Amino acid sequence: MKDFGLFIDGQWRAARSGRVAPTINPATEEPWAHVAAAGREDVDDAVAAGRRAFEKSGWREKPAVEKANILREIAGVIFARSDELALLEVQDGGGPIRKANMADIPATAQTFMEYAAILEAMVEEEVHEESVPVPSRNLIRKEPLGVCGCILPWNFPMAAASWKIAPAIAAGNSVVVKPSPYTPVSTLALAEICTQAGVPAGVINVVTGPEPDLGAALVAHPGIAKISFTGSTAVGKRVMEAAAGQLKKLTLELGGKSPNIILEDADLECAARGALFATFFHGGQVCESGTRVLVPAKLHDQFVDLMVAGSKGIKVGDPMDPETTMGPLISKAQLDNVRRYVGLGLEQGAKIRLGGNRPAGLDKGYYFEPTIFVGARNDMRICQEEIFGPVVSILPYKTEEEALAIANDTSYGLGAAVWSRDTARALGLARRIEAGTVWVNDYHLINPKFPFGGYKQSGFGRELGPWGLAEYQQLKHIHVGEPATVDEKFYFSLLLG
Ligand code: NAD
Repeated sequence: MKDFGLFIDGQWRAARSGRVAPTINPATEEPWAHVAAAGREDVDDAVAAGRRAFEKSGWREKPAVEKANILREIAGVIFARSDELALLEVQDGGGPIRKANMADIPATAQTFMEYAAILEAMVEEEVHEESVPVPSRNLIRKEPLGVCGCILPWNFPMAAASWKIAPAIAAGNSVVVKPSPYTPVSTLALAEICTQAGVPAGVINVVTGPEPDLGAALVAHPGIAKISFTGSTAVGKRVMEAAAGQLKKLTLELGGKSPNIILEDADLECAARGALFATFFHGGQVCESGTRVLVPAKLHDQFVDLMVAGSKGIKVGDPMDPETTMGPLISKAQLDNVRRYVGLGLEQGAKIRLGGNRPAGLDKGYYFEPTIFVGARNDMRICQEEIFGPVVSILPYKTEEEALAIANDTSYGLGAAVWSRDTARALGLARRIEAGTVWVNDYHLINPKFPFGGYKQSGFGRELGPWGLAEYQQLKHIHVGEPATVDEKFYFSLLLG
């Protein structure tokens, strides 16, 4: 059993209350580590450490190229410690080791490398000379906000932490990060790595634990300038309400119910594999999962057969086995939630074509089978609400216009895809889908150079690329007038005659 403290002011320390909480391995249902269980007083300490570092550590004034070097160093250490970090991610989150090695570790390191490159190319202060109405030099500066609160979900803990920490500190801010109570450990390790790589103590602080009000305490804290929240739409709404009192700046990265449109001219074999990857990667616990597959009515049965045949390649089981491609769900609560939605689908008249149960032979661990619903309608709850598990509905359509209407008939707008051999046609559709990211003939590929975020109730603000950096900056305009005589300041006459 491992023990992890809070990471505040560059130090490991216990919660002030002395309390600790277990973190459960979803594959064994057993605790594998303890973390400190922070309370409001620890949030106060973390915010104070962040503020001190913001004012006194020199981080915000550090030249961009020097910050860039440190971000690259962080990426290097992530790769160097990849075995250890992958293990933490698997034990906490239940994702397969294959995913940790191929996706989580490289994605986390690449985010830091991308922000290093952005810093190197960044113009920190633009200067514009003006002559009207009086001669002036105008500086446009991008300045940090202060101490930013970063609230994380459990599905991609380390990568999600990097999407917030890298741009926030690149912009010169300090952060207090609150990981999900289910997956606190890799965020703690990442904070330590950043500090060892040269980010001054106090710039990155992490508060952990199951205290239900911990996130709310961060949102309400007057010392927090901005909240970047990733999580469910329901909690995102509560965060927005709580932030309103202080008009706190917000980025909200929320849930999704993404459409995946198969056009009749698509390579069906490839699109069917793509639809499986879009839905069942990480057991469907991905915000942009393509959980509504829209298929031409005349190809429906053939396409479903192709998906069922392709699903034989999914190996559900022990996430530590390198052959495993789908691990357990994160928690008993999530497993129960998925079961409840499968029941609701059946109650509302949809039929299960694949899965629908706990896999045979996996009696321990929060496992659930890849599950395909047919005969569903888009207005059913399984097609309107985020299940966040391995459950997909296949919906037939007759015309492209109907497919588009079904695709957009959702309160969410995070991801989408179109599969077709005719790229121009697919692009025409992609432009009309109401979603922040649309893939054509691909799915789930996220490049840290490009913006990621939601339309509609999938949230607002963007992560990654220069757009992600801008979320942690505020613009200042400094007007520098000429030292001149009273007579030359002719506009004084507006008041002084
Ligand atoms: P969640 O909303 O339950 O929790 C997210 C975080 O908010 C956790 O750290 C939680 O402790 C904290 N929290 C809970 N109540 C809070 C409050 N009142 N104030 C502040 N913080 C509070 O989400 P989850 O179950 O951890 O994650 C799954 C959800 O995240 C899904 O809806 C998924 O779609 C979404 N998600 C979105 C993206 C994206 O980029 N849009 C990425 C990953 C996950």
